[in-house]
Formats: sequence, structure tokens, C-alpha cells
Amino acid sequence: MEAFLKKISDAGLDASSMMGEEALVFWSHVRKHVATTPQEKAQSYVISAEFRTSLRQFQQGIDELRAALELLALPNDAKLILEVRGYLADRLVDQGDFTAALAEYIASSSIAVETSHIDAYVKAVIGMGNLCDAYGDHARALRYYQKIDSIDHAISSRSLRLRYKLYKLACLIDLKRTKSAQELISECEELSILVSDKVLSGQILLYQARLLRQRGQLDDAMRCLGHVKYAAGNVNSNWLSNMIRMELGCCLNDAEKIHLANWVLESAHVRIQKEASPILNLKLSNALASVCEKQENYQKALSYQHSAYRIESDLMRKVPISELGSTQLRRLSRFELQLKLILSEIENKELKETTENQKHTVAQLQQDVFTDPLTGLHNRRWLDVKLKDLLLHDTPFALLVVDIDHFKSINDELSHLVGDKAIVNVSAELSNYFRFRGASCVRFGGEEFLVILERAALEQAEMHAENYRHRIYQYNWQEILGERGLTVSVGVTLHREGENTQRTFYRADKALYRAKANGRNQVCCE
Ligand code: GH3
Ligand code: MG
Ligand code: MG
Repeated sequence: MEAFLKKISDAGLDASSMMGEEALVFWSHVRKHVATTPQEKAQSYVISAEFRTSLRQFQQGIDELRAALELLALPNDAKLILEVRGYLADRLVDQGDFTAALAEYIASSSIAVETSHIDAYVKAVIGMGNLCDAYGDHARALRYYQKIDSIDHAISSRSLRLRYKLYKLACLIDLKRTKSAQELISECEELSILVSDKVLSGQILLYQARLLRQRGQLDDAMRCLGHVKYAAGNVNSNWLSNMIRMELGCCLNDAEKIHLANWVLESAHVRIQKEASPILNLKLSNALASVCEKQENYQKALSYQHSAYRIESDLMRKVPISELGSTQLRRLSRFELQLKLILSEIENKELKETTENQKHTVAQLQQDVFTDPLTGLHNRRWLDVKLKDLLLHDTPFALLVVDIDHFKSINDELSHLVGDKAIVNVSAELSNYFRFRGASCVRFGGEEFLVILERAALEQAEMHAENYRHRIYQYNWQEILGERGLTVSVGVTLHREGENTQRTFYRADKALYRAKANGRNQVCCE
């Protein structure tokens, strides 16, 4: 969508300033002249349909959403298709075309399962549950909402998770399953901290009040309703404010404050009739009938009851009740299983990846423990293990001690950083030279290195030491050290059978000192 909006602004058009009828013309122009892909054309239909709703052109909006769907194809456009079908279902419900809405929910649930879109699946199931709620079958609605329980953890949108729980909660309250409702309400309260949506938080207070009223705690219930903070007026907040008014009316009625109850409910009546939501009207008529009955105004009570009955039977006629029966629920049970499988596959994959990452980390750590970070050569810890191994297997070896000559002056004259570079290059040459000679190279400390040549004779070891010394002498140090060169001195010795390695080191060291004393840049044996 962002790319499309950029394309529109690149075409020199300003989408944000368009409202009302003007917006319809604008988006039709965009669809014909700016949108090039079917997806972009579909998106312009969707936006246009949104404006149609605010202009109360409901049918045209529905037609445009259907036109958008015509342009899209599975599986590539699955996400957009699910979005459009969601909008379409909402519009159809608003229009009271519940059968067509159910068809959208059914199609969406199948597509969502096939393409692993959990949130879209949840929305479709909520939609089906809402249809059951609409004609007052809260037990069946609850069965729909409960289909979401096993995939609850996989819902990515927190507000969607809260909404599904709130629908469930409303059913539990209607079914007077107080204990479960109380548990769920605490869960919703916790979740709402992270969601911070005023309408959803208000809904929690509304249900809290209903639970309190069921328990006869009318003052607490009304206090609870007083805490509701209203958001700016959209469809949901209008719904909430009317529900709050009705609940307040019911509390006042139960508290025998009949006149006040009547006044509050009548004021809700005026607003709700304007919006003409059959479900709200049904609730209100029932509430008003009960207040009038309390006032012993039986005639008025009867008239409200009649209107409630009319709305209810109208809803029952419009809602495809039989299609929402056990066949549909069984279909969802199969989906539920399929989704659980998909989710467990995703989780297993993640777990496997984590374990592999972990293994990699452990291997990395093991390597780090035995490696000198500056040069990548083995370190002294590695050397200890290696020496023990050599002794254990009686492996004969030659030991070379390599030390950079006058290294301190490199540090002093050219900086520590240049000194490091010199160390890195000396080590790189060390491993380059000895790599293919069955040798192990160790950074023993500072500018001092060890080479272990297994099963090598002294002459061989001396020859390699000499080759390496020469290589370093000949090395192009110009780039790092400018005018000055760099040389190394090497002490060589053989490990004698059964001898402590300290003795071997002592001899190698002595050889090195001799090389230094003899003028450096040379190899000495001991
Ligand atoms: P010689 O020819 O006698 O070996 O003289 P030298 O200057 O090389 O020997 P000396 O042992 O006096 O100095 C070694 C210097 O190496 C001292 C220390 O500051 C430096 N050094 C030790 N480790 C590092 C390092 O990791 N990086 C750098 N840049 N310098 C280091
Ligand atoms: Mg030195
Ligand atoms: Mg040294």
C-alpha cells in the first residue's frame, strides 16, 4: 500500500486532501490512470468503498469491494483478498445481509487456513459467532469463539485477541456463567494494559458492571460505569456509549430508581433509533419493557415486548441459522486441527533453528576459548591441551619459539595500532607457511609465537624455521612500517622422550636468547 501511495504522489496527486464525493472521483481517476497492477486497482476500489460508507452509499461500496475481489487471485494475493473479504463482510452485516456475510466468513476461513493467516481466520470465526449472538443464541456463539482458544497464542494482533475474549466474555455473562466470566475478565484487564484502546477498556468496565449487577452490587456497578472514558465518536464508541446508557438504565431499574431508569433508557432510545442497529434496538426494547413492567405500565411494556419480538423474528429470518449449525462447527473443528498442525510445524521449525543456533553458539564459544582473538592462532589454553595430548600418545615433536625483534620500538615509533598490524601479519605468514606441514601455530603472548612440528627431525625443524625467518625478512613491510623492516629470531629444539614439557620450553628459550644475543634475525638450535 505504501508503494502505491508513493506512486500516486509521484504522479503529482495528493490523496490526503480528498474527501467525500471528490474522493470518489479522485480514486476512480487513480484506478484508471495511475494504478497499473491488478492489486493497485483493487486497492483503489477498497479505498473508494471506504468513502462510499461515509457517504452512506452502502450498496455501491459493496459493489466496489466485490469488483476488487474480481481483480485478485489466490494464492499470491491471499492477504489482500482476506482483507477485502473482511471489509465486505462488515458492510454486509451493516446492511443486514447476514447470509452473504456468512458466505464471506466461510470463504475467508478456508482461505486463511490454506494460507496460514491466523488473524484473518480468527476474524472470520468471530464474524460467525457474532451472527449467532445477533439472534440471541449465545451458547452457540460461545462455541464459535471457543474455536479460537487453541490458537489464541498465535494471534499476532493484541487488540484482536482482546476483542475475541470480550465477545466470549459477553456470552458467558449472558449465559450467567459467572465464575468463568470473572476469570476471563481478569485476563482481559491484563491484556488491555498492553492494548490501550479506550473502547475495549470501556467494554471491560461495561461487562464488569453487568457482572456486579448480576450479583446485586448495584452501586458498585454504577460506579464502574462512571469510570468509562469515551473515545472520539466512531461506530464502536457509539455502540459502547449506547450500551453503557442501557446498562445504567438497567442498574437504576434494579435499584428501584424507575424514573431515572426510564429517562436514561428513553435518551438511549432516541439515539439508537437513529442508528437503526437491530441488535441494539432489540436489547433496548427488552430493557424498556422490563422498566415499564416495574412501573406497572403494562401497556407500554407490552408494546416494547412486541417491538422486541418483531426485531428478533426479523433477525431470525435474516440470519442463516441452520447454516450456522453443527456442520459449520464441525468444519471449523477440522480447521482447528489443521491450524494446530501448521502452528506446531512453525514452532518446531523455530525450535530446530534455535537449537541449531545454540549448537553453533556453543561451537563458536569452544572455538573462542581456544583462539587468540587478534591473530586467529591457537592460544595458550589450547597449547596446554595439545601438549598433554602429545605426551599421552608419546608423539615426538619439535618446538619452535618465534619472537619479533625489537618489537617494542615499533610500538614506540609507529603506535600500538601499527604494532598490532605487524603481529597480525607475522601470524598470517606463520600459518600460511606451516599450514601444509602438519604444524600447529600458537600465539604464546605479545609478539612471541610457538610452532609444534609433530614427528619432525631437528634438521627439518631448523630448515622450516630458517625458511620462515627468511620469508619474514623478505616480506613487504613497506605498506605497514614504511622505511623500517621487521625480522624475527627463532629458537628450535626437540622434545625428548619422557621429558617434562617445561624442559623442552627451557631449551627452546635458551636457543632463542642465543639468536637474540648473536644479533637477531636468525635461527638457533639447542
Ligand atoms: P627483542 O628483540 O629483545 O625481543 O625486543 P622487543 O622489543 O621485541 O622485546 P620486549 O619483550 O622488550 O617488548 C615486547 C613488547 O611487545 C612489549 C609490549 O608492549 C609489546 N606487546 C606485547 N603484546 C602486544 C600486543 O598485543 N600488541 C602490541 N602492539 N604490542 C604488544
Ligand atoms: Mg621481541
Ligand atoms: Mg618477546
